[in-house]
Amino acid sequence: MSASQQRTGRILLIYTGGTIGMGLNRETSTLEPLDFNHLIAQMPEFASVPTGIDVHQFPHPIDSSDMDPRLWARIVEIIVGHYDNYDGFVILHGTDTMAFTAAALSFMLQNLTKPVILTGSQLPIGQLRTDGRENLITSIEIAAAHHPNGQPRVPEVCIYFNGRLLRGNRAIKFNADGFNAFDSFNFPHLADAGIDIHYNDERILKPDYTRPMTPHFAMDTNIMVFTLFPGIQEEMVRSLLDMRSLRGIVMRTYGSGNAPQLPWLMDALSEASCRGVNIVNITQCAAGSIEMARYNGGFLLHNAGVISGYDSTVECAIAKLMHLQAHHSDYLTVRRLMNTPLCGEVTIV
Ligand code: ASP
Repeated sequence: MSASQQRTGRILLIYTGGTIGMGLNRETSTLEPLDFNHLIAQMPEFASVPTGIDVHQFPHPIDSSDMDPRLWARIVEIIVGHYDNYDGFVILHGTDTMAFTAAALSFMLQNLTKPVILTGSQLPIGQLRTDGRENLITSIEIAAAHHPNGQPRVPEVCIYFNGRLLRGNRAIKFNADGFNAFDSFNFPHLADAGIDIHYNDERILKPDYTRPMTPHFAMDTNIMVFTLFPGIQEEMVRSLLDMRSLRGIVMRTYGSGNAPQLPWLMDALSEASCRGVNIVNITQCAAGSIEMARYNGGFLLHNAGVISGYDSTVECAIAKLMHLQAHHSDYLTVRRLMNTPLCGEVTIV
């Protein structure tokens, strides 16, 4: 076992903010992030967790709607800086952008050999009915879980929420109120936690333990998300597609990748694609995959140079485009890699 794989018996908790650590601001009556020590004080059971836990707190904990690629790079830096000293990492994060962060980290931490589990809660940890305690304690248990040979049980970026362990780049937040806020409709759960935690070992990624984890920090944010809807206007679409700095579009189409058969739309997409803009077709549906040859509207998109996003989530397609465009100036390489699974993010059939 290499030095970075020696077990340490310790987990690093990275507190970025989110509802889990928030409290009520009595002046504005809104929830706002609090210091992590406040959070710990609410959890006496923390002391009886059998794993050693250290905490790294963002200097200014955030509502995750303020998350951005610069902070993703900061999280990567923290993980890299502590990689050899911990068996795994638990990231406390707001739920609003957790799926984006999980997808981004899955590309930024290449050949990850340790668990990185994101979790949070719908109710602050200080509230009586909070879901935060269970989410946090089980995430720590999963991050510490290992096989008899010492290798971690789940060496990938995951989201743990309400009894479900999900591959991070497959998860979406689909419920704004319920405790079951997340699911991965196009990929089985990596584990389900009830009385026991049942791991779906066959589905969990197997990294190459002989190679180091390679961090990536750069993300190219010259992208846009564009949703089709009945009545869409040429002027609006052209003003988006004509932007000079635009390098990538996640295009949210109907059903299995369908679009209205409007000549101006196909011409505008084709012109942008020929100019080098990477246009990725992702369904507006929560489940299922793109099949551009199924209907004529999808086939026209294919002819216009739009590439299939298969069964990727929107969050994952955004993160993957940002990552690939930052590392490859050649658009043909970006398009080829968009259609290549890099870390279990897409099923290509
Ligand atoms: N607005 C909060 C956030 O994402 C919501 C949450 O944590 O659940 O930070």
